[in-house]
Amino acid sequence: MPARLLCLTLGAALVACGAAPPPRSRAARPAYTLVVHGGAGTAPDAGDPRRLAYAAALREALEEGCAALDGGAASVDVVERIVRRLEDDPLFNAGRGAVMTRDGHHELDASIMRGSDHACGAVAAVRTVRNPIALARAVMDHSPHVLLVGEGAEAFARERGLPEVDNAFFTTDARREAWRGARPDDSPRGTVGAVALDRDGHLAAATSTGGLAGKRAGRVGDSPIVGAGTYADDATCAVSCTGTGEEFIRHGVARAISARMELAGEGVADAARHLVHRTLRPGDGGVIAVSRDGEVAMERSTPAMIRGVCRPGAPPEVFIDDAPEPR
Ligand code: ASP
Repeated sequence: MPARLLCLTLGAALVACGAAPPPRSRAARPAYTLVVHGGAGTAPDAGDPRRLAYAAALREALEEGCAALDGGAASVDVVERIVRRLEDDPLFNAGRGAVMTRDGHHELDASIMRGSDHACGAVAAVRTVRNPIALARAVMDHSPHVLLVGEGAEAFARERGLPEVDNAFFTTDARREAWRGARPDDSPRGTVGAVALDRDGHLAAATSTGGLAGKRAGRVGDSPIVGAGTYADDATCAVSCTGTGEEFIRHGVARAISARMELAGEGVADAARHLVHRTLRPGDGGVIAVSRDGEVAMERSTPAMIRGVCRPGAPPEVFIDDAPEPR
């Protein structure tokens, strides 16, 4: 099939003209692919039990997600399930274990997107919803809206019968100590995200976070902003971001990766590299992405990003800095 020529014009001036690579044949692309992240930042040293715990948590999440994809589950169901699992794990800054706001509360943000029809749902600054990603999915499936915030989002959760908890449910000793300034928080920032390609060639992405530690009440980052922290389009890729949300919003990072593929014909790895290393500033964070062909990008400009990938026929691989983490 001849390459589709796609040109991006700015006024009369032609600024970029690329050939979008033709999709890989069904036989050439992996049957399914799952990529998961657990936040960017710094990480405990090799041998630190917390590092082993992060790697084990991600490996188990990948195993569960790939087993579901292997059995024919839809990518949108798998990314929701895996993000929900990580929200329930107090190690991560999402759901239980989320960081605290300046005034000592938790405000949670999440979003989900399906690449086949651009359906998406998001919630921001929710305080009492046990699994924000499940509420984001409900916004997508059961409301005409894309983003609900605060008390309105919580009222919708109640209407949908989603589990409610006291805000203190999300607090762990480690987060409380870090908030009190009793000890520096040297863990990765701990946002969680998942992107998947399923057996039917459909893409999906999901992201969930407690946001930045010590944020003002009401501050919302990129994670619940479709196009900034999360994006999926079956024609290009699925993306989940982690890092300094303000920067990811400013540059519409997740959507920009997709747009570079669509309009400039870049592969997902080049597009992700461009956004992380040329558009964003050093240390801003990282992204995970999977293309419609099952090509994977895991790019960061921080010392560490907890991340991993699984595909058919191979055990999941988990990384925190450069080399794969030992099993
Ligand atoms: N991106 C998230 C936010 O700004 C935080 C993170 O990924 O660490 O809310």
